[in-house]
Amino acid sequence: MTTATPQESDDPFMVSLESQDYSELRDAVRRICRDYPGDYWRKLDNESAYPTEFVRALNEAGFLGALIPEEYGGSGMPLRAAAVILEEINASGCVASAAHAQMYIMGTLLRHGSEEQKRRYLPDIASGALRLQAFGVTEPTSGSDTTQLKTRAVRKGDVYVVNGQKVWTSRALHSDLMLLLVRTTPFEECRKKTDGLSTLLVDLRTAKGNGIEIRPIATMINHNTTEVFIENLEVPVANLVGEEGKGFRYILDGMNAERILVAQECIGDGRWLLKKAVDYANEREVFGRAIGQNQGVQFPLARAYMELEAADLMARKAAALFQSGRPCGAEANMAKLLASEATWHAADTALQTHGGFGFAQEYDIERKWREVRIYQTAPISTNLILAYLGEHVLGLPRSY
Ligand SMILES: Cc1cc2nc3c(=O)[nH]c(=O)nc-3n(C[C@H](O)[C@H](O)[C@H](O)COP(=O)(O)OP(=O)(O)OC[C@H]3O[C@@H](n4cnc5c(N)ncnc54)[C@H](O)[C@@H]3O)c2cc1C
Repeated sequence: MTTATPQESDDPFMVSLESQDYSELRDAVRRICRDYPGDYWRKLDNESAYPTEFVRALNEAGFLGALIPEEYGGSGMPLRAAAVILEEINASGCVASAAHAQMYIMGTLLRHGSEEQKRRYLPDIASGALRLQAFGVTEPTSGSDTTQLKTRAVRKGDVYVVNGQKVWTSRALHSDLMLLLVRTTPFEECRKKTDGLSTLLVDLRTAKGNGIEIRPIATMINHNTTEVFIENLEVPVANLVGEEGKGFRYILDGMNAERILVAQECIGDGRWLLKKAVDYANEREVFGRAIGQNQGVQFPLARAYMELEAADLMARKAAALFQSGRPCGAEANMAKLLASEATWHAADTALQTHGGFGFAQEYDIERKWREVRIYQTAPISTNLILAYLGEHVLGLPRSY
């Protein structure tokens, strides 16, 4: 799988993009992305529309089933391969967040679902026949304090009756299934605050209009995110994933993979932005010379490159630890934070480098600049990562 080494290329972007791992996979992703240039994404952005054709193409190529084991119809690849797929999508100027959740949400089903559930859903998810793109955790009143969520599921015979509300549930209108975190035991009756939460697999195809109402939220980026109103929704007990009351632990279990994938996605965006900026800095002449000749333009680009490379190293380390089954919470969190800031600095530098043209939609810089800002807030905000490191790595008192 190893092809080019850093010494074999003079182009720093090619070193970053092609070296060391999965060069064939990267080529295959890039081939698909070539059919979805900037004007495709710009149109979707203007219309707040979903990239259905793009996601279908990724599915048909088997990319979104990369982490599903072969026995369930996927390609059973390591996490690093999935990370490379997401990086390469964004490094090609496309938008991985339209489909990334399909890679990590199914992890909960894979690790904690019954054999019957896995046989029933995973092959169709792997083939793209079934879309598992929606993950309902965040609620309007509890926010980052997940254990305080209010959506309540009460068992009545063979069904759970669910009432509550979720917010920021992305892609719910473009997904067949939603993994929903609910409270099954009242908070006051739990020994620990992390107890009493459960994960339910909701079939949105039948739930919409029958207990679930989904409303899009207008946002600064085209993320197809929604509010989900749940009223007397009946979910078969057969759709409980894992054991009742252990849902919070299941969600935590999946977080390291999610952080590593999102980190690599950030790096992909950062590399696309930086390449655009460097090309522009070399081409654009003002005062009789390329603007990139000015240190005031050049040095921020060099700094952005360095930050992206450093974040990439941490993301690779986290992925390697994850793959070998070793603890990687600190590394996965650090990779996500470093990558989210590196890509934001790359975006801001790219915008500045483009001068007024950075604001013109046709350059796609302003769109990417808006898009990459989200990584500092979702799927977890920067402060919560710092709090995790302070407490669990440095041994400081819990800050919240
Ligand atoms: C575009 C978008 C897509 C999203 N997609 C999904 C999705 O698909 N599914 C889903 O479940 N959620 C999703 N989210 C929600 C996202 O995960 C949350 O917005 C995020 O976790 C922060 O929660 P909050 O918005 O409630 O902020 P709050 O929890 O209200 O926090 C607000 C600010 O206060 C800070 N803060 C809070 N408590 C502390 C503390 N103790 N110490 C220091 N700082 C603190 C936070 O860091 C943050 O900066 C999405 C959000 C967005 C914007």
